[in-house]
Amino acid sequence: MHTKTLKALSNALAAGEVSSQELTRHFLDRIKQLDPGVNSFITVTEEQALAQAKAADEQRVAGNATALTGVPIAHKDIFCTRGVKTSCASKMLDNFIAPYNATVVEKMNDAGIVTLGKTNMDEFAMGSSNETSFYGPVKNPWNTDCVPGGSSGGSAAAVAARLAPAATGTDTGGSIRQPASLCGITGLKPTYGRVSRWGMIAFASSLDQAGPMTQTAEDAALLMNAMAGFDPKDSTSTDIEVPDYTADLNKPLDGLRIGLPKEFFEDGLDAGVGQVVQEAIALYEKLGATLVDIELPNTHLSIPAYYVVAPAEASSNLSRFDGVRFGYRCKDPLDLEDLYKRSRGEGFGEEVKRRIMIGTYALSAGYYDAYYLKAQKVRRLIKNDFDEAFKNVDVIMGPTSPNAGFKLGEKASDPVSMYLSDIYTISVNMAGLPGISIPAGLSNSLPVGLQIIGNYFDEARLLNVAHRYQQETDWHAQVPAAFV
Ligand code: GLN
Repeated sequence: MHTKTLKALSNALAAGEVSSQELTRHFLDRIKQLDPGVNSFITVTEEQALAQAKAADEQRVAGNATALTGVPIAHKDIFCTRGVKTSCASKMLDNFIAPYNATVVEKMNDAGIVTLGKTNMDEFAMGSSNETSFYGPVKNPWNTDCVPGGSSGGSAAAVAARLAPAATGTDTGGSIRQPASLCGITGLKPTYGRVSRWGMIAFASSLDQAGPMTQTAEDAALLMNAMAGFDPKDSTSTDIEVPDYTADLNKPLDGLRIGLPKEFFEDGLDAGVGQVVQEAIALYEKLGATLVDIELPNTHLSIPAYYVVAPAEASSNLSRFDGVRFGYRCKDPLDLEDLYKRSRGEGFGEEVKRRIMIGTYALSAGYYDAYYLKAQKVRRLIKNDFDEAFKNVDVIMGPTSPNAGFKLGEKASDPVSMYLSDIYTISVNMAGLPGISIPAGLSNSLPVGLQIIGNYFDEARLLNVAHRYQQETDWHAQVPAAFV
């Protein structure tokens, strides 16, 4: 059962081959047995999951089932879940029980989806390796000496190890796509504004976006049907109709114009990763696509600009964690200032503190124009590059990340090399565009992702392009040996 896609599980439920309670129990058992070696879950919500599964089975008997009623998934621990610990993998929120559901969670509950638990992540979604979690690092199921990527590393590892058929993730600079790439699964970062951010603990509000992490593009389409849409509670969500994302999955790719940015294939790209990506692109040519050389000349500025904008927004967003209203409070504060200082000093980890300091500095009077304003201007140039490219191509392709899974600890003490993991993904967030990573092969026995970037609100096309590839290949169906 656990190797089946969401789509196959949905069919099995509809055909009465299995009940949601049996399915949920099966995945809960797998988590119990196998997750200690992976550490992909922070919280397993066994009791609630079984209650939801029972309700889903009853809904089916009553004839009210949707395509997703009764399928179990996991949520990244950045989404508020009513009555359940929502920690963002921080000591700061280790004692925080969310009083409400994030819109994404609410919508999935409405669709009858069962929640298995909350997945591990980098603290406050800051990281590319899942090593900054208060709950310890997540291991890559393909090689447990390696990182799964981050920040949605728990979600990626859980799906790769088939501990959950699918999971939610969030992507501020690459956090859905990069771990999807490193764990050999499919991860879609929708257009900014396509999915509600309400109830998703904020990191960098102008960049954060939630999306599905699945085995296949078809499964991502199913989940997008449940997740996407306008939310009056999120003032940046967009009021555009949600298409049926499964409708165009099979459209032929004849005449598809694929842009290949030269900047995505230069120095810094691992040779093995580059080869896998080239082979994937060659397959698209066979499927009828035309390759077009393009340029995204400001790509090299995306990381420096992001590391001003994202920390600036983070420093503001994280000011709410003051030891008074949420989460951790230091012991025996002497006075109010001591309470603030020690609660934040003791509650946040090193990377989070680094970002708060950078962001506060960049926003301070005297430096605002030189850093923050400048970074915003660069951001516009990055967006302009994409606008120019999309005049001539339908999608853009390249690697998701410059490397496959690296060793735990390898980059932990070198933030700049860690930050480079997102060199091909960050510009997509800076522009607000959608992007997907799909498994395209192995390099040194570790998965490699192909990234496909689309124009605004063109998720259906990305899913179509990804799905056609997955019909010709079986990389998405490969399971790491220890988890078959
Ligand atoms: N790795 C990037 C960072 O650390 C992106 C994280 C994310 O997308 N949440 O900020």
